[in-house]
Amino acid sequence: SLLITLLFFWIIAIGVAYYLSRSSMKPIMDAWKRQRQFSANAAHELRTPLTVIQNQMEYMLTKPKTKVVDQVDAISTTLDEVRHLQTLTNRLLMLARSDAGKIEIRKQEVDVKPWFEHVLKPYDDIAASQHKSLNTVLKADGKGRFDEDLIRQLLIILLDNAIKYTPKGGTVTVVTLLNRDKLTIEVRDTGTGIPDADKKRVFDRFYRSDKSRNSKTGGNGLGLAIAKWIVNQHAGTITVKDNHPKGTVFTVGFKVS
Ligand code: ADP
Repeated sequence: SLLITLLFFWIIAIGVAYYLSRSSMKPIMDAWKRQRQFSANAAHELRTPLTVIQNQMEYMLTKPKTKVVDQVDAISTTLDEVRHLQTLTNRLLMLARSDAGKIEIRKQEVDVKPWFEHVLKPYDDIAASQHKSLNTVLKADGKGRFDEDLIRQLLIILLDNAIKYTPKGGTVTVVTLLNRDKLTIEVRDTGTGIPDADKKRVFDRFYRSDKSRNSKTGGNGLGLAIAKWIVNQHAGTITVKDNHPKGTVFTVGFKVS
């Protein structure tokens, strides 16, 4: 009779699960599932750098008498992973705050061209230090209103990716066009490109194409999810397409009136 009771509860449980998955509870169940998935992914992403840091520290401790100069490799690997953790936690925090509606959008009037020149300036050196070149074309005379902090973050995400996914010798081009009250930003690279099947998923949280996962480019799959959120906050659009003959083009457009 124990078996029959168990079977009974099992059937009831399946029935309830089926009902919940089909009924009006579905959106709530889906949101809960997404949240659970998000936490699992976040924990997974945190674990990898932490393991590397732990290994490096343990290794250093096996040679307590060596000088710092002889531990430079281990120290710089550790630092790289710490930086990686920093970006990851900042991005997780940003997404958590955006989900909770805790980020206030503050639009200011900006003199577009000098603003872009200023934000893009350090990227000449960053690209050059990795043997890549950066071109900028700014056809943006005039003023526009947007949230400077957020649009700066958006640009940084797109530029970091363009540089990261472009091999040495490649070129990244940023084109900014202000046409009446519409601002268009295009970030073009000559890099690895994104397979068609991945194009619509790259904006999902934690999504990384297999190609980038395997190439150890050290990303976390959150950048473009944040970029998309920022663009939405400006009631704009962000799209991705192939560059020719190779590479990727991200195009952002929004009104700055
Ligand atoms: P990540 O931190 O992995 O770069 P993103 O959310 O910024 O995360 O990007 C998601 C994925 O989209 C990347 O892992 C990569 O597969 C792909 N991707 C983004 N930008 C580019 C690009 N410029 N060239 C090629 N692939 C890109």
